[in-house]
Amino acid sequence: MEHAVTDLPFKVAHGSIVIIKNLPVWQCENCNEYLLEDAVMKGVDDLLSGIDSKVEVEILSYAV
Ligand SMILES: [Zn+2]
Repeated sequence: MEHAVTDLPFKVAHGSIVIIKNLPVWQCENCNEYLLEDAVMKGVDDLLSGIDSKVEVEILSYAV
């Protein structure tokens, strides 16, 4: 696994999709699998809980 910064989509309630940009992840060198650290996952949860779920697509930037 190596560190990478990428943009990932997350499905939330009511058919909304949130795209979080500049997300720090671990990426497998052999396949395109990503792994999020617990602290990053917590940050993602915080971002997702703060969005307006009536919006179909929302694009956010992950701030460390
Ligand atoms: Zn792999």
